[in-house]
Formats: sequence, structure tokens, C-alpha cells
Amino acid sequence: MSTNEKKALLFCSCSGACPSMAKIDFWALSERVRLELGDKVEFMALHPRLCEEDGERLMKQILNPSMKFITPACAEKRQEKLLRDGFAKAGVPMDETHWLPVSMAQEDTNAVFEKIKTALEQ
Ligand code: SF4
Repeated sequence: MSTNEKKALLFCSCSGACPSMAKIDFWALSERVRLELGDKVEFMALHPRLCEEDGERLMKQILNPSMKFITPACAEKRQEKLLRDGFAKAGVPMDETHWLPVSMAQEDTNAVFEKIKTALEQ
């Protein structure tokens, strides 16, 4: 198995109160991912604010260069800016081998599930 075939999911729920994620049921989403896609995921984790210092500390602990991290969070361009320090602290490059952003902005639970499913097939 090459190093980037292992995938992990790192959700950011944007405090759980962001209007752009109001249609997402994170409990239902994570359980559906676990049941239907769990065999494709090394692990999944959720943090409410990955772009804050405590979120970056989590990233430093769990990101590693042997996996690709799929990050369902805000819009891809925002993630590129806001997650940069967390990746840097973990020493993991934000390139195609190690990172695949998924935007949950303005989406509902089912749409995010389908995006994650597609991301795991890439
Ligand atoms: S990384 Fe994006 S989704 Fe997460 S708290 Fe920051 S702005 Fe919100």
C-alpha cells in the first residue's frame, strides 16, 4: 500500500453554530460515515474550531505524512488559508498526497455525505 492510500477524516464543525452549516446533523453524518464508509477510513475526528490555537494543537497531534487527510469544513479556499498553520505545525504538506478539502458550507447532511464518499474514492 502506498503512503497516501490511507485516509482519515477531520471534521471542523465551525463552533456548531455557523449558519452555513445549520442543515448538517453531525451526529447522523458521522454515524452514517462510520456504517457505510468506515472500512475506507483509518479514523475520523471532529473539532469545533480547527483554525484556532487549540484546533492547531489537535492537528499537530494527529496529522501525519503517511495519510491523506480529508477535511470537511468551510469552503476550500478558506481552508487553504485557515488550516495552513495546523498543517505546518504537524509538518505535513498541504498537497494532493496529504490533503483533500471538502466544503460543507451551505450543504445539508446528505450532500456532505455524498461529497465525503466521492473524496474517499479519489
Ligand atoms: S476552519 Fe473553517 S469551518 Fe473550521 S472554525 Fe475555522 S472558519 Fe469555521
